[in-house]
Amino acid sequence: MIVPMIDLHAQYQDIKKEIDAAITQILEETSFIGGPEVRQFEEDFKTVVGAGHVISCANGTDSMEMTLKALNISAGDEVIVPAHTWISTSEVVVTAGAVPVFADVAFDSCCISIEDIKKKITTKTKAIIAVHLYGHPADLDALVQLSEEHNLHLIEDCAQAHGSTYKGQPVGSFGTASSFSFYPGKNLGCYGDGGAVFTKDEQLALKIRQLGNHGQLTKHDHRIHGRNSRLDTLQARVLSVKIPYLKGWIEKKNEHAAYYHEGLKGIKEIDLPTLMGENRYHSWHLYVLKTKKRDALKAYLQEQDIQCGIHYPKALPFQPCYSDFDHKKTDFPVAARLQDEVLSLPMYAELEKEQLDHVISSITTFFER
Ligand SMILES: *Cc1c(COP(=O)(O)O)cnc(C)c1O
Repeated sequence: MIVPMIDLHAQYQDIKKEIDAAITQILEETSFIGGPEVRQFEEDFKTVVGAGHVISCANGTDSMEMTLKALNISAGDEVIVPAHTWISTSEVVVTAGAVPVFADVAFDSCCISIEDIKKKITTKTKAIIAVHLYGHPADLDALVQLSEEHNLHLIEDCAQAHGSTYKGQPVGSFGTASSFSFYPGKNLGCYGDGGAVFTKDEQLALKIRQLGNHGQLTKHDHRIHGRNSRLDTLQARVLSVKIPYLKGWIEKKNEHAAYYHEGLKGIKEIDLPTLMGENRYHSWHLYVLKTKKRDALKAYLQEQDIQCGIHYPKALPFQPCYSDFDHKKTDFPVAARLQDEVLSLPMYAELEKEQLDHVISSITTFFER
């Protein structure tokens, strides 16, 4: 039995009729950029993030970078970002011209550590980018409080967390703005690249929309230096078809997470991801456990036709592109540990019980050998 990390084909089979009809319609209209479908998607996405402004764009990295630019974050400014995340989170700070200041993460949640943020705030700090990593909501009460106290922008990187909630409220609606990616493998993915910003601030929304559209709000009136960053019509339609299914997919993933938990909780050598209590709802973009025997376990599972991933094998402060900072492992003890211990198990809505059982029994066998 083969168990992939994610099975986009299985999802496509389930919604094939609607997807094919939507794509055929766009092909017939041969209208590939803009149009009412893109605006309709932006409306539809509010059922996920709540009331506010949705600005669609070309990918999740762009959405964050344009947000920083729109907030005038630039040379001389510092932005605090987690040490353990996908590179986009710190990359956008550099492309905006500012300096990324890494904060360590908490071992349990793998999300940014509030204690370490406090140590990193200086007079130059302008913003904190918090990532709801793997779909686990970051510590939003503390983040909101800290950013208010220090007059900082809180930007939520929700690329892995469409559908996660914190105290019943969708993540992405707590900070100044939030960023979403619709890369195919995300909770809500299109069939190519896509992204969006969400904000409740109308002026900021307008500025970001302008930035992504060559600095214009009306054609040939270029008010500011912009760029081209748009979600194409096909992707917008694919996303609109998928949105009504998102909640059900996440519910399924929560069932799978609980099943993994039940099956694996007896193994002492693993740290399992926390199942959420009342106040937080996890969307399980990834199901990530930790073990000191990570590499051997991964190799063993591979032999059993079980695909696993490592998110991420090298924490950002230790990447060659940041070597100028001269960061040491002891500066980020948790991130340094996670890079050696994290393992992402197969996780997607369409996983069958037999597949889950195969993963659980293989892991159990590995630790009993
Ligand atoms: C995927 C991802 C992004 C950006 O996504 P793209 O759409 O590929 O640009 C940003 N941050 C995190 C944490 C991600 O996982």
